[in-house]
Amino acid sequence: MKIKRYKKVNRHLNFYVNNFGFRQPYQILLDGTFCLGALNNKINISDNIPRYLQGELKLLTSQCAIIEMENLGSKLGGALIILKKFPVHKCGHEGKPVAASKCLLSMLGDCNPNHYIVASQDRELQNNVRNMVGVPLLYLHGKTPVLEQPSQVSVEATKNKEGLSITERQMLDKLKLESGLVNESDKPKKKKKKGPNPLSCKKKKNKPQEVGKIVKNVEAKNKRRKIRIAQHVKEILFNKKT
Ligand SMILES: [Zn+2]
Repeated sequence: MKIKRYKKVNRHLNFYVNNFGFRQPYQILLDGTFCLGALNNKINISDNIPRYLQGELKLLTSQCAIIEMENLGSKLGGALIILKKFPVHKCGHEGKPVAASKCLLSMLGDCNPNHYIVASQDRELQNNVRNMVGVPLLYLHGKTPVLEQPSQVSVEATKNKEGLSITERQMLDKLKLESGLVNESDKPKKKKKKGPNPLSCKKKKNKPQEVGKIVKNVEAKNKRRKIRIAQHVKEILFNKKT
């Protein structure tokens, strides 16, 4: 898989991890249409989808989805066999099966508490999922699995007062740091005051070489923290030599 694609999936998944509490193993709720898509494109779901999502998965379906495929007749027998391989999650329609799309939507509830990722080729179901908050959508584009970017309603739902989502906030902080917009003298300065204590060199008064060493160490340590030692501190340290 191309790195760009890998990054994209990661970014989309992280959105749900950071904002909606998704955790591995991710639960993928499959229907018959997805299995049919996989069969037509000669894709092995159990191999391809975990590889694509780069994580541990639980692939599962519902009784209603299986019953719907059974009712659609022998033409879809191949897809039915695939669908039946996956564990069945309770959907609450036992004894009173409903259409697969309706069933899956009811399993998502109002806020997808079980953190399902819906895998379907059913356009109508896909559109319904897009209008829900916090439900990732997975489908096949030919042979290629696609985890759709978080829908607008999901993104809107995660925005805070500043109008930024958690992920956007983090990204902004990172960008500010990288571009130097964050004033380096802000935080580090406070640390600097605490940092190199000139008195710590006091005992080494008579060993100028070691003082030099210590100064070097302090400098190295501070370099790692991206803190520059202020001139006046340096002066204090070097004055201890004499
Ligand atoms: Zn059901």
